[in-house]
Amino acid sequence: MKIIEVRVDQIHFISDMVRDGEFHSHPGKPHDAKQPMLTIVCDNGIEGHYVGPMVKGVIEGGCSQVLIGEDPLFRERIYRRLLQYQRLQTELNERTLCAIDCALWDIAGKAAGLPVYKLLGAYRDTVPCYGSIMVGDDIKGGLDTPEAYAEYALKLVKQGYKAIKLHTWMPPIIPEPSVDMDLEACKAVREAVGPNIPLMLDPYHYYSREEALRLARGLEKLDFLWLEEPMDEHSASSYKYLTENTKLQICGPETAEGKYMTRADWIRFGSASIGRAGALTCGGLTSLIKCLHLYEANGMSVEMHGNHIANLHLLGATGIDGKYFERGLLHPMLDYEVPKPWFTANYDKMNENGDVIIPQGPGLGYEFNWDYIKNNIVK
Ligand code: MG
Repeated sequence: MKIIEVRVDQIHFISDMVRDGEFHSHPGKPHDAKQPMLTIVCDNGIEGHYVGPMVKGVIEGGCSQVLIGEDPLFRERIYRRLLQYQRLQTELNERTLCAIDCALWDIAGKAAGLPVYKLLGAYRDTVPCYGSIMVGDDIKGGLDTPEAYAEYALKLVKQGYKAIKLHTWMPPIIPEPSVDMDLEACKAVREAVGPNIPLMLDPYHYYSREEALRLARGLEKLDFLWLEEPMDEHSASSYKYLTENTKLQICGPETAEGKYMTRADWIRFGSASIGRAGALTCGGLTSLIKCLHLYEANGMSVEMHGNHIANLHLLGATGIDGKYFERGLLHPMLDYEVPKPWFTANYDKMNENGDVIIPQGPGLGYEFNWDYIKNNIVK
């Protein structure tokens, strides 16, 4: 099998999401938007697809030179070549590397006639999930007060979610992030959902050590399960300080560069009590597998970052104590169950037990709306 074409199409759609100055998503006025979709075509007719953030120019440029003519099943060889290319080619970011790698896994699954998690070595067909509430905002009817979080969290529990994570307020929504306000929201949610729902917090990412410690100590009292990324993750020492000074579990690193190598250093350093990794920020599934094995070999649990389809397959292929798939982001004014127009169904369907079903189709198992895609490809 050989790769003969690499193409990024842009699918037009009407988005009801806007990004703030820190790139966090919020509901907003409907507007024209484009969703990139990568297609890698093989000489035997198999096509690998991936939908997500990516840089079109670098895929169709330098990366396609690595890919065209190559056997798509040689994922590790392709990954290593792209890794070297990534060193000086800043446009080849982790998200773009992830796009290419995931499309190759899609091809491998289709060639074998298996969903990716079974190709990896399946462990389970469903995984527990938590409802991941979007970053706080100042929208009436949105997530503008601690009470709004509490009301929405209770609604999510009634919908079947067995655990919940909050993202609280950050600039530019509020100019000064506040540990007190975070704790107020967490307290309101704990009181609303009761003692038996595991809760997690992902707050502002640039608190000082002292602020992060005060936040952690407050969350200890509210019996939270973990705290993630309350400080700049480039300081592994700050995370070591935090982990050593609180009984709360600290989960990380999420966004720090360096894939499995950075995670190895965090493990060695004792910078977190729970590991964290995700396909988008680790450069795809090939790299994510290395992170997972690293945590397993060190006797640590790992929580997957984001609602990525590759995270779901990896969770289906591991018995390591990574508890949850992160489902969302969720917001009281948005209906997460309605698929994006390029899909006929969401890939992270939740069953009546509040668990997410691993996609069963060959490859990644996307369920595409090909009519919509064909009719909405734009320049
Ligand atoms: Mg996070």
